[in-house]
Amino acid sequence: MRVAIVSDIHSNLVAFEAVAQDFGQVDEVWCIGDIVGYGPEPNECIDLLKGFKHYAVAGNHDWGAVGKISLDDFNLDARLACEWTATQLTEASRRYLAELPTRLEMGDFTLAHGSPRDPIWEYLLSPLDAQASFHAFTAKYCLIGHSHFPLIFSYLWKDGKEHCQGFAIDPDFAIKLTETRLIINSGSVGQPRDGNPEAAYALLDTERNTLVFRRVPYDIRRTQERMSHLGLPEYLAARLSIGR
Ligand code: ZN
Repeated sequence: MRVAIVSDIHSNLVAFEAVAQDFGQVDEVWCIGDIVGYGPEPNECIDLLKGFKHYAVAGNHDWGAVGKISLDDFNLDARLACEWTATQLTEASRRYLAELPTRLEMGDFTLAHGSPRDPIWEYLLSPLDAQASFHAFTAKYCLIGHSHFPLIFSYLWKDGKEHCQGFAIDPDFAIKLTETRLIINSGSVGQPRDGNPEAAYALLDTERNTLVFRRVPYDIRRTQERMSHLGLPEYLAARLSIGR
């Protein structure tokens, strides 16, 4: 089975369409949360995702936009964009986001937006935090999003000790999935923050046990123009150019 792993689309339809074009025919799409927030086209992104056979978990922006969590912990721009998103959502989109689960078990994979320990809020960026998270799921691998950084954490039990390592991921990096337990972040489709503005996602092949990290160029200007036309915070549009 070929699976496209997408995360943090953030209402960036132009980026999501470019990614969908890049992955082409897949059996399933797994979405690791934050379909909406920040960007200009929340309903359209939900509808594009719904067009695939897909499974999705909730991110903080998804639940923030439908009032399931408080926006008090969002920074100002994120909150403004989330409040704007709330005014735009159709009833169908609202229901879809509100009903997303926080975690999903898909065979060898657990899906959780932030971390398996705290799916809505925790950022996993250090091996130390990741180490604790390996105790919070039992599958071989866990797919996460939230930080918008493509990365992998590996876990080994050796010589009576836990060893957890973190790796930043370069475009087109491919890994063979083995018995080693991993936490994997495919990066962000709609608002990359690792210094590379190209949309990030990953392709999983469950027969060959391979995972390929992809970067896809898209028309950033188009998304930025839509954002400024709608009066969304300028900083959120500007950061797309630099991927930070
Ligand atoms: Zn996000």
